[in-house]
This record gives sequence, structure tokens and C-alpha cells, in this order.
Amino acid sequence: MMPDYSDIRAEVAKLCQQFPGEYWRAKDKDRAYPIEFVKALGEAGYLAALIPEEFGGAGLPLSAAAAILEEMQAQGCNGGACHAQMYVMGTVLRHGSEAQKAEFLPRVATGELRLQAFGVTEPTSGTDTLSLKTTAKRDGDHYVINGQKIWTSRAEHSDLMILLARTTPKEEVSSRTDGLSVFIVNMKEAIGNGLTIRPIETMMNHATTEIFFDNMRVPAANLIGEEGKGFRYILSGMNAERLLIAAECIGDAKWFIKKASDYAKERVLFGRPIGQNQGVQFPIARAYAQMRAAELLVHEGIRKYEAGEPCGEEANMAKMLAAEASWAAGEACIQTHGGFGFAAEYDVERKFRETRLYQVAPISTNMILSFVAEHVLGLPRSY
Ligand SMILES: Cc1cc2nc3c(=O)[nH]c(=O)nc-3n(C[C@H](O)[C@H](O)[C@H](O)COP(=O)(O)OP(=O)(O)OC[C@H]3O[C@@H](n4cnc5c(N)ncnc54)[C@H](O)[C@@H]3O)c2cc1C
Repeated sequence: MMPDYSDIRAEVAKLCQQFPGEYWRAKDKDRAYPIEFVKALGEAGYLAALIPEEFGGAGLPLSAAAAILEEMQAQGCNGGACHAQMYVMGTVLRHGSEAQKAEFLPRVATGELRLQAFGVTEPTSGTDTLSLKTTAKRDGDHYVINGQKIWTSRAEHSDLMILLARTTPKEEVSSRTDGLSVFIVNMKEAIGNGLTIRPIETMMNHATTEIFFDNMRVPAANLIGEEGKGFRYILSGMNAERLLIAAECIGDAKWFIKKASDYAKERVLFGRPIGQNQGVQFPIARAYAQMRAAELLVHEGIRKYEAGEPCGEEANMAKMLAAEASWAAGEACIQTHGGFGFAAEYDVERKFRETRLYQVAPISTNMILSFVAEHVLGLPRSY
């Protein structure tokens, strides 16, 4: 059984209560970054939950990080602004040299360095990561980067970026997963020196961007691990990311279910609360059942992850089911509220827009189903 971390949850809830609906609505309206919220979480140490104590973090297990993110969402906040500060550092922690870990992790732990930009997706290759086109060519003690990334979230609010680029042309590699390398980029130095960031306006307030590299120079010392093995390093962090995003979706679902149930009890029409009608109760009850089932799978995935067991199946399915559960809960919540579900002041439409993302990013549902079909059920690879 996963610990319930009731103490941590209570503390997170207390912090989140300083950032009520009005705060998020104002940020949403201005498409502004929730800097005060991120600062408060950082100062309380939550964003350093997964960094080992020897590097100044809290050294907590994945289950604790999941509880923190779930609670944030359940309180109506949006962790999308900063969740990556928690886990993007995992690439450095798992595959970086001792020197890189000592250089970056303690300052990421204090929040002095924001490492929350993750440059993998490109406009032409999308989900087909192995076809990405950004190149990194060795030139003396530097690599020279050219190309483009898209959906690089929080790039304007990050000091460092984990970047995946091709160091050996696709035609020249012996294994199809070779030839890509991971770099840690100092964004503040790079902006204006080969790095351009352009924000993308989206349906929710997500601070996402596209970024362009024009002969951007990265010190060779910032190559993580071995040249050409970067795809594996990126893959190795995916299970943790999926489980954490799944936990956020569970939090969203809990928020929607509570909001819908409360409203259904209060709103009186035809002489009785609308929640007395089965037509109103059942979608909420169904969403609750869906959420609980997904939550069990999130816990099982985390249990296996923490036991060092393979957990790709559970992490992928948990992410898919949790994202679907949060969407079902959002749908029930908006329907329960009738017209008021569309009014910004109820926060329902904002959360509805925000939670929709997780059926697409960080990986879309079809790719999860393909994973299950191929790797769990042994069906032929479809792409
Ligand atoms: C707000 C936002 C933030 C993001 N943040 C980041 C970030 O910080 N860093 C980063 O690197 N990326 C980020 N992403 C990118 C995200 O991971 C991708 O959008 C996602 O993986 C899907 O890729 P795509 O958009 O290129 O869609 P495509 O790959 O073009 O796919 C389009 C559709 O086709 C389906 N599809 C494609 N191939 C197949 C197939 N073989 N079989 C069945 N269906 C298929 C997909 O499932 C999808 O539904 C973000 C995206 C968004 C929208």
C-alpha cells in the first residue's frame, strides 16, 4: 500500500489555499505565468522533492511527489507551470557525470536554477522522435546546434533546458535508437546567441513556446552521458513522468467531482436539489468510479517503480486512464453546472481546458494503446 502522505497533503493544501480561483482566473485571462505560486512551492521545497538529500533536495520517493502534484490539482491549482522542475532533473541525476550533478543539482534544489524546459518535440517529426531534425555537430570543445523545437513549455521561465539533438545522421547509425544525444543548455547565455524563443498562444495558460537554434554553441562538457545514447536516457525518465502526470489528472478529477457534487447538492430546481435526479448523479458517480480505478493503477505503477520493477505497462495505462477519468469528471462537472459551467468565475471551464491537454501530452492516447498492443499483448508493431 502506498503511504497516503496526509501530512504533506495537508501542508500542500494549506499553501494552495493562498492561490484561490481568483488568482488562477487573473493569470488565465492575461496568459501570465503564475510566478508567485511557483515561488511559494519552490521555497517550501516541494519542487526539490525528488532530488537526493546529498544534492540539497528532500530525497523523497516518487509516491510523495505524486501526492504533492495530485493535491495541488485537487485544490484547483495548475502544476503545469512547474511540475517539470520536479522531474526533468532526473536525466542529469541518472545519466549525468559527477561533475554535472555537483554543478547543477544543488542549485536546482534551491530553485536558483530553474530546469524546467525539455526540448524533444519538433514540428515535422512530432511523436516520431527518432526522425527529429535538430543537429548537434562537434566543433572543438563545443557542439553547434541547428534546428527547431516546438511545444517547449516554460522555456521563458527556465535557466536550463534538457535538449535532444541528432549527433549522427539517421542513415549512419547501426541501431535505429542510436545517434541522438542529450545536452544541458544554459538558456540565459544562449538567448540572443543562437537561441530564439517564440511563445505559442494556446487554449489554456501553459507558457509553451517554439524555439529556434541557429548555430547555438553548447560546451561539450554539457553533453549528458555518452554521445549517441540520448534517446535511451530520455526514455528512462518517461515512466516517472507518466505516473506524475497521471497523479495530476487524479487530482483534477477529484476537484471536478467535488465541485460537481457540491453544486448538485446546492442548486435547487423544481423544488429539489438537482443532485437528487439520477440523470445528474450518475455521470458524477461514474466519473468517481473511473477516477478510483485509474488511481489504483497509478498506485500500482508507483509501487513497481519504487520497487525497481519494470512498470512501463502500468505507467502508460495509468496515464491514459487517469487523463480519461479527469476528462469524464470535467464533462460531468460542466454538465452539472448547466450554463454556469461556462462562466469563468466558477473555474470549471478553466480546469476543463487545462485537463484536456493530458490526453495529448506528454504522450497521446494512441501511442499508449500502441505500446500496450505491441509490448504487452504481442501484437505486430503498427508503425
Ligand atoms: C501544451 C503542450 C505542452 C507541451 N510541452 C512539451 C514540452 O515541454 N516538451 C516537449 O518536447 N514536448 C511538449 N509537448 C509536445 C507533446 O508531447 C506532443 O504534442 C505530443 O507528443 C503529440 O505530438 P504531436 O503534437 O507532434 O502530434 P503528432 O505526432 O503529429 O500526432 C498527431 C496525432 O496523430 C496520432 N498518431 C501519430 N502517429 C500515430 C500512429 N503511428 N498510430 C496512431 N496514431 C498516431 C497521435 O496520437 C496524435 O493524436 C507539448 C504539447 C502541448 C500541446
